[in-house]
Amino acid sequence: MADNSPKKNILQSTALLQYILEANAYPREHEQLKELRESTFEKFDKSMNGSVMSVPTDEGLFLSMLLKLMNAKKTIEIGVFTGYSLLTTALALPADGQITTIDVNRRSFEFGLPFIKKAGVDHKINFVESQALIALDNLLSDGKEEEFDFAFVDAIKSEYTKYHELLLKLMKVGGVIAYDNTLWYGSVALSDDVVHEDLKENKTHIQRLNAFLVNDMRVEIALLSIGDGVTLCRRIK
Ligand code: SAH
Ligand code: CA
Repeated sequence: MADNSPKKNILQSTALLQYILEANAYPREHEQLKELRESTFEKFDKSMNGSVMSVPTDEGLFLSMLLKLMNAKKTIEIGVFTGYSLLTTALALPADGQITTIDVNRRSFEFGLPFIKKAGVDHKINFVESQALIALDNLLSDGKEEEFDFAFVDAIKSEYTKYHELLLKLMKVGGVIAYDNTLWYGSVALSDDVVHEDLKENKTHIQRLNAFLVNDMRVEIALLSIGDGVTLCRRIK
């Protein structure tokens, strides 16, 4: 990663991030997740100048723990890329668990699919190649209201508030929606004159989302400073 490029992790100490990953998270990472992470890095990271999109391993371990604590069975994922968070979810759900996973790009999902198959969890996954808003509308018109325990949201940041209204209808009361990247490289706390040009637009979208969620009394919220920030929203009515 070039020194002046923005870091997609809110920890400002590289040594601390390295410690968390190397001394703690990587030793506990599932073998196929490790293979998927390394292959994704090889194929995509160089061309993306170090800004690979997969969730980091410590966040993956957290999501896995959360899904198990909740006894989640039916989940939605928006934004698959090569499937790191998807494989994490598939490994955490019980044998009869089901993930409806949505992405406009089937090719990156297919890049990760052999790792998912090797882990033996592809039967839990229903991949929908679609714009997320259309796919969520379709789930509602198929009568899937209040069917889901959990959703992981990691696609276009400007659309998160639109996903929110549809996802709230799809979640059971007590279900959790997790929004990824809600600290957007730490930029949400900085004024525009010190924020990297590439981050400015999404900084505004994420700030709007965060301000919206704070005032949304239909959900209990917790913004976690893990990875690039994850906001958990538990539907309470
Ligand atoms: N959760 C993934 C990373 C997702 S990256 C992981 O941890 O590995 C964001 C993904 O969102 C990309 O694969 C992109 O194709 C997808 N995406 C972008 N716009 C979308 C849209 N409107 N609807 C659905 N998916 C979208
Ligand atoms: Ca993300």
